[in-house]
Amino acid sequence: MRVPLIAGNWKMNKTISEAVAFAQELKLLAPFPGVEVLICPPYPALAPVAEVLAGTEIALGAQNVHWEDAGAFTGEVSPPMLKAAGCRYVIIGHSERRQYFGETDEIIQRKLKAALRHDLIPILCVGESLEVRERGGTFDLIAKQLEGALSGIGEEEIKELVIAYEPVWAIGTGRNARPEDAQEVNCFIRDWLARRYSPVKAGSWRIQYGGSVTPDNAAELLAQPDIDGALVGGASLKVESFAAIIRAAA
Ligand code: PEP
Repeated sequence: MRVPLIAGNWKMNKTISEAVAFAQELKLLAPFPGVEVLICPPYPALAPVAEVLAGTEIALGAQNVHWEDAGAFTGEVSPPMLKAAGCRYVIIGHSERRQYFGETDEIIQRKLKAALRHDLIPILCVGESLEVRERGGTFDLIAKQLEGALSGIGEEEIKELVIAYEPVWAIGTGRNARPEDAQEVNCFIRDWLARRYSPVKAGSWRIQYGGSVTPDNAAELLAQPDIDGALVGGASLKVESFAAIIRAAA
């Protein structure tokens, strides 16, 4: 039985005080039976938000990570730093990182390996552009992204893994994938993982959907058998809409 994971990816939004206020408000609504809730604020807000969330079941995650533990990498943040700030999860390979910051499958693989080594649960993002979907290349592209990110990573290295299927054309556009289309891709991802690792592992790892999830469409998306939660951008910035999506998952 997979517990759905509802994760808020705040991207480059909220100052420390805004993030703390959000966490305090969300905490008042906890616990959330039957759902795991995660928020991923920008780096500066991680430690202050961790303090607010201490003693609750609301998890904290980062939006990115470097693959080295320490060193001369100006502007980067390492897995031990994220652990020390209170993170349990880290988003890796978000399409905005791939698109605007040149992250390749090889970079994503390094980050994934580093996160796993430090006991951070990776949320690996995969997803196709509109152009790829329209020419029927979705499954090939998803397989290529999975292969690239997971190459050389053995089952024994993975305690827990989350995949987020996020079609690029659905992110921040207000145009979500149809539930049956998202289900089809999530099922494809699970089959791929079952072949690559084992059916037991693939059956236990959560596969989220992300892309314009709102309180209005969440229930229908989350009702699909292979959609085990949502990675939520815009609608995670307000407690009211984020809480409504959490309720839809319960
Ligand atoms: C995201 O950033 O991962 C995302 C899915 O954004 P939005 O919900 O705003 O489409």
